[in-house]
Amino acid sequence: MSRPLILDAHLDLSMNALEWNRDLRWTVPDIRESERGMVDRPDRGNGTVSFEAMRRGRVGICVATQIARFVKRDSPIPGWHSQEQAWAQTQGQLAWYEAMEEAGEMAQIADGPALERHLEHWEAANGNGHEAHAPIGYVLSLEGADSLVTLNHLERAYEQGLRAVGPAHYGPGVYAQGTNATGGLGDKGRALLREMERLNIILDATHLCDESFWESLDAFRGPVWASHNNCRALVPHTRQFSDEQLKALVERGAVIGVAFDAWMLVADWVRGSSTPQNRDVTLAQVSDNIDHICQVAGSALHAGIGSDLDGAFGTEQGPADVDTIADLQKLPALLAARGYSAWDIENVCSGNFLRFLRKAWS
Ligand SMILES: [Zn+2]
Repeated sequence: MSRPLILDAHLDLSMNALEWNRDLRWTVPDIRESERGMVDRPDRGNGTVSFEAMRRGRVGICVATQIARFVKRDSPIPGWHSQEQAWAQTQGQLAWYEAMEEAGEMAQIADGPALERHLEHWEAANGNGHEAHAPIGYVLSLEGADSLVTLNHLERAYEQGLRAVGPAHYGPGVYAQGTNATGGLGDKGRALLREMERLNIILDATHLCDESFWESLDAFRGPVWASHNNCRALVPHTRQFSDEQLKALVERGAVIGVAFDAWMLVADWVRGSSTPQNRDVTLAQVSDNIDHICQVAGSALHAGIGSDLDGAFGTEQGPADVDTIADLQKLPALLAARGYSAWDIENVCSGNFLRFLRKAWS
């Protein structure tokens, strides 16, 4: 089985660097070792992502987030108490991505020519089965738009390379309502979508609650994808897409990245007591979700990978057969066993998102 290039459409790399204090230039075992005995977060010592592991898994390109939520006083959800603080947090995250570019670890991809240059560079460095130290390409995205203090901040962010925005994350948002919240867009949300359309910023439909999802799809005429989202038909929860939502996305030419958080892969996951082992969570359920999207779409042209690995969960709440992100390379064999052709597998691993980006930026 050849080892295809992988595009991971959702990684919170800068959040890990700045909030978990992880230097992603270290190896995964070194990062884990440095967190031994820490109990401040449930995923301490269980990280799966480093640049070395990404290169080993041929994850040569990713969609990397900026993420900072605004919450009102007394909100049960953690977050910043002003949009300005959230903006400052995302600017710090951007500074880390830029520092990693200066260090030769990452390369920002913000237009078609940069994408082609990166792919050539990556293949030249990593062809013939060698994993040289080539920069990992990243498309900058924003998970939850609360940090955009005004629409002018969106234009500033665009100048900095921002190319995809998910208007909401968990809970109520400034511009749209997210997972576990209810309601539509309102004037602010519609104005945000108009500005995204003008700037040709991709709408990430992930995390939108149903009402905000349908309103967004109606209001927005630009490119739409879902960076990390699974199927409601397999695990019922409003965080997951219904078949009707999947169909609407496919009609818009979207690619849907399948996420690896265990609670989105098996029903009735109980945080803290369920384990990947006692619930038998593996990449089999990841490929179930990929397959479901392909069945609904009627082709393998709309499914991708948006692992969300180290998105506030580690090995304690991910597929048991994923020790590090390098294990994404186990997916091709699983898909082949289900009858997917080499061409389909390449498309799922990166081709679909690459085609999407080429078209969005043409
Ligand atoms: Zn997310």
